Amino acid sequence: MRKKTVLITGGAGFIGSHMCEKLLSNNYAVICLDNFITGSPENIRDLFKNKDFRFQRRNVSDYIDIPGKLDYVLHCASLASPKDYLDFPIQTLKVGSLGTHNALGLARKKKAVFLLFSTSEVYGDPLVHPQKETYWGHVNPVGVRGCYDESKRFAEALTMAYRRVHKLDTKIVRIFNTYGPRMRHNDGRVVPNFIFSAIKNKPLTVYGNGRQTRSFCYIDDLLEGLIRLMLSKINEPVNLGNPGEFTIMQLAKLILKISGSKSKIIYKQLPVDDPRQRKPDITKARELLSWEPAVCLQDGIERTISWFRG
Ligand code: UDP
Repeated sequence: MRKKTVLITGGAGFIGSHMCEKLLSNNYAVICLDNFITGSPENIRDLFKNKDFRFQRRNVSDYIDIPGKLDYVLHCASLASPKDYLDFPIQTLKVGSLGTHNALGLARKKKAVFLLFSTSEVYGDPLVHPQKETYWGHVNPVGVRGCYDESKRFAEALTMAYRRVHKLDTKIVRIFNTYGPRMRHNDGRVVPNFIFSAIKNKPLTVYGNGRQTRSFCYIDDLLEGLIRLMLSKINEPVNLGNPGEFTIMQLAKLILKISGSKSKIIYKQLPVDDPRQRKPDITKARELLSWEPAVCLQDGIERTISWFRG
């Protein structure tokens, strides 16, 4: 019997490469597209051993055409770290808009199920806490984070338009801060920054007073939720994240403790429009996908530290 085929954009990135691996182990054939702007060949090197894995170096913001049948199109490609989208704002806007349009067009042509990888950033600096899917968000469209937030909001709107107009089977996941092995040490996000500094005995840089909060989800938990959503009948956005909420200072102290590092904590200026608090309400995922995270922050950070050490 023919295996179901999944095309994934951004499949050589942090989340994308884990998703490729998970799909292959669940018996799907995988076509991975990536332009390596933030993804890397290293992330997918081992996957080439699997005969059901194919790779094409492509920029999804340009027209894409893939021969053969596709059952699912997962649009994961994006610059996801604030540092990256500040460095590449135009590419960020293009992949969220043109890239989403191309990926939707491909899914429509192939009559494939479409899954958009969206983000908690659609909620901006939220005035409602924790964030439910019904919250419309509080975003500065012209600020430095606007390129990411608005491109993902546009991507969600376009996805819903394809659903309404073309009756495409679309899904939208709003991913909250996810971490784990394969994050780049210079990715700029807080978990790799702190871990890399801690194991090199360099100071951990806390931005602002460190009282801002985030909720950190271990990659394995996210993957399980993504597969469940992909196979579900849900067409409205779903939050996936770990509702455990921590201040950035608590995270810094936890990483120092687990790594046994002697690093100091130093303070740096808080980036512009940095959200003050973030925590997913995952009632919808619990009820409709029977999903919730299983890995606590302590365990996830231990696993991530040992990967960074390796
Ligand atoms: N942050 C920090 N030190 C760092 C990197 C980030 O204090 O070295 C803070 C950042 O200001 C934000 C939080 O950690 O409040 C999470 O930042 P990250 O870049 O991981 O992603 P975000 O959740 O803002 O998209």
